[in-house]
Amino acid sequence: MAGTYREFDIIIVGGGIVGGALAYTLSKGPWQIALVDAVEKKIEDARLIALNAGSCCLFKNSGLWPALAADATSIQQIHVSHQGHFGITRIAAQELGVDTLGHVVPANAIVKSIFAALSNRENVKIICPALLTAITPDTETSTLAFDTAAGKEIYQADIIIGADGSYSTVRELLGIQTQTIDYQQSALVTVTELARHHNHVAYERFQKEGAIAMLPLADNRVATIWTSSNTHINHLMQLTPSDFLQQLQQQFGYRLGRMLQIGKRATYPLQMQQVQQQLKQNVLLIGNAAHTLHPIAAQGLNIALYEVAALTDYLLKQSSLKKCLMNLPLDSLQQSFSRRLSHGLTELFAKDLFPVNLARQAGMISFDQCTPLKKKFASHTMGKAGHVPSLFLNME
Ligand SMILES: Cc1cc2nc3c(=O)[nH]c(=O)nc-3n(C[C@H](O)[C@H](O)[C@H](O)COP(=O)(O)OP(=O)(O)OC[C@H]3O[C@@H](n4cnc5c(N)ncnc54)[C@H](O)[C@@H]3O)c2cc1C
Repeated sequence: MAGTYREFDIIIVGGGIVGGALAYTLSKGPWQIALVDAVEKKIEDARLIALNAGSCCLFKNSGLWPALAADATSIQQIHVSHQGHFGITRIAAQELGVDTLGHVVPANAIVKSIFAALSNRENVKIICPALLTAITPDTETSTLAFDTAAGKEIYQADIIIGADGSYSTVRELLGIQTQTIDYQQSALVTVTELARHHNHVAYERFQKEGAIAMLPLADNRVATIWTSSNTHINHLMQLTPSDFLQQLQQQFGYRLGRMLQIGKRATYPLQMQQVQQQLKQNVLLIGNAAHTLHPIAAQGLNIALYEVAALTDYLLKQSSLKKCLMNLPLDSLQQSFSRRLSHGLTELFAKDLFPVNLARQAGMISFDQCTPLKKKFASHTMGKAGHVPSLFLNME
C-alpha cells in the first residue's frame, strides 16, 4: 500500500465509549496504541445509560469514577410491570445485600471522562478524522489504510480492534456476516421532570407495542426511554411537548407521581445484530461492531465493557502481542446470558399474543415470589455472574 507508514502495537478503530474505554484500560500496559475515529468527537449524545454494578466497578478500578460520580444517580430498586396485566417484579439492592444495583449516567459524561483521561496518556495516539478504507489482516502484523486530512496513511499493528459501531467498516472490509433482526422500532429518549422524587427506583413498563423505561436522574428528574414501532415514535415526535407529556403520563400512569415537563426529544433506530465471527486472524470485533442489542434490557454497553475488562485481563498477561489473539478464549469475552436476555425480553414483551401474555404473567408473578431466582437474574444484569474479570471486581 502507498502512503505514510506508522507502526503501533495495537490499533483500535472507533473512538466511541467502547473503543475509548479499551484504549484507556490498555494504556496501563507497555504498548503504543492508536485510537482512530472517522469523525472528530463532538459531545452530543442524548443517551442516558444504566451502568450495571460491574461496569461501575470498571470505572472505579480504572480511576475514571471521580469524574463521573457527580453525574451518576444510583438505582436502588428495579420495578417491572405490564400495562393492563396483573403481576409486578421488584428487585431491591437491600434485598440482595448490595449498596446499589447500578447507576444512570449520561453517555456524554462517560465520553468526556474517558477522553479527558486519555489526553494524559502518552502511549495513546488519538487520530481523527481518519476514515478506514482498507485492511490486510495477518496473524502477525495487519496493515490498515486511512484517508486523513494529510492524505493517505498506512498503519500497522500486531492487534487490531474493531470498535466502530453497528455499521462497522472493519467488519465489512473483512467480509464478516451478521445475523440481523430489524424490529421496525425506534427508541425516543428524553428527560422528564417530576413533581416528586423518584426514590431511586428504575421503572420498566411493557406495553402492547414496546416499553417505557424511567430511570432515576439527579433531583426530581428521570431519563425516559420509550420504545415502540417507527410509526408510533414518529407520531410522538410530532406532538407538542405538552401533548407528549399527557400521552406519557397516560401510558406510564402515576407510579412516579405527576409529570411536569419534558426536555429535548431524540430518536434511535432499534435492531439486533450479531456477528457470525468475532475474531479473524489478529482482528477482533467488540461492542456494537460485534453485537447490537435492543436497549430494553439496558445491556449493550454493559456487555461491551465486560469485553473490555476481559480483554484487558488477557492482554496484560501476554509477553508478546504477536499471534496472541489466536489463543484468546472467546467465551471469556461473552456474557451470552445477557444477549439472550435482551432478545428474549423483546420477543416476550413486544408482542401482544394472548398465550405469551399468560406465560409472562405467570412468569412474572412466580419470579417476584422467588428470591433465589431473582438473585440469579440480578447477578447477571449486574454483570456479576460466572467468571468476573479483575476490572469488574468490587475493590472497595
Ligand atoms: C436509546 C438507547 C439506550 C441505551 N441504553 C443503554 C443502557 O442503559 N445500558 C447499556 O448498557 N447500553 C445501552 N445502550 C446501548 C449502548 O449505547 C451501546 O451498546 C454502546 O454505546 C455502543 O458503543 P460502541 O462504542 O460499541 O459504538 P458507537 O457508540 O457506535 O461508537 C462507534 C465509533 O466508531 C466510529 N466509526 C464508525 N465507523 C468508522 C470508521 N469507518 N472508521 C473509524 N471510526 C469509525 C464512530 O464515529 C463512533 O465514534 C443504549 C442504546 C440506545 C440506542
